Amino acid sequence: MILNEEQTMIQEALRSFSRERLAPNAARWDKEHHFPKEELQELAALGAFGVAVPEALGGAGLDYVSLALVLEEIAAGDGGTSTIISVNNCPVCSIAMMYANDAQKEQWLRPLAQGAMLGAFCLTEPHTGSDASALRTTATRDGNEYVLNGTKQFITSGKYADVAIVMAVTDKAAGKRGISAFWVPTNTPGYIVAGLEQKMGQHSSDTAQILFDNCRIPAENMIGEEGQGYKIAL
Ligand SMILES: Cc1cc2nc3c(=O)[nH]c(=O)nc-3n(C[C@H](O)[C@H](O)[C@H](O)COP(=O)(O)OP(=O)(O)OC[C@H]3O[C@@H](n4cnc5c(N)ncnc54)[C@H](O)[C@@H]3O)c2cc1C
Repeated sequence: MILNEEQTMIQEALRSFSRERLAPNAARWDKEHHFPKEELQELAALGAFGVAVPEALGGAGLDYVSLALVLEEIAAGDGGTSTIISVNNCPVCSIAMMYANDAQKEQWLRPLAQGAMLGAFCLTEPHTGSDASALRTTATRDGNEYVLNGTKQFITSGKYADVAIVMAVTDKAAGKRGISAFWVPTNTPGYIVAGLEQKMGQHSSDTAQILFDNCRIPAENMIGEEGQGYKIAL
């Protein structure tokens, strides 16, 4: 593949960062299950948190080839760090770019793209992965709020993220068209980190089971329209 000048510069910058700051620590981080907070902030300064997000919204304003190069170079240094950065970029920032309203973009996308916040994506549940339409987590309207109940499984950054995009059923009778997407700050009461996976590798990235126990969020935290969640997730 022939890269353009900008893509080559990104590749070289990330390669050099990865060799100096990630690779020498990777084995220790994996052994100690260490979350690389400091290095993630350095990656944020390099624009790695929102590679394809427009500069006007706090991102690096690059293309998706550049995002692939960024993830490839980070992964060569530490696979877990690459997974953390990958989820923050896509699906989290990419969903926000496409479906969040202007107020949500200011509140969530800008800090996510700048690295002031870290994002997670909650789709998978203990009983279903590939079949994203079989969700059981519910979001029930109560006045100006939605109340979330259910369990999400294998959530990258579920423990360390500041905000999660959560897919939940708002209308059980509507099947695939009854799923909606929400911004859920992880410090909301009822967002519970129920457990962490003991994986075979990638230990610098936490993979969590999240329990939503009467987790109340403002109705304005819905992303897109009610019933659009399955489309957004795909
Ligand atoms: C390290 C890690 C991090 C993850 N992070 C996240 C995250 O941040 N957020 C999140 O929501 N999820 C996350 N996941 C979950 C991941 O998206 C699911 O594991 C994935 O969707 C597969 O679901 P499953 O594990 O239930 O496997 P299954 O759906 O049971 O699939 C098992 C196998 O069957 C195959 N299969 C399934 N259905 C069919 C079919 N109809 N026809 C043919 N073959 C089929 C699959 O290709 C696969 O090989 C993560 C998983 C891992 C391992």
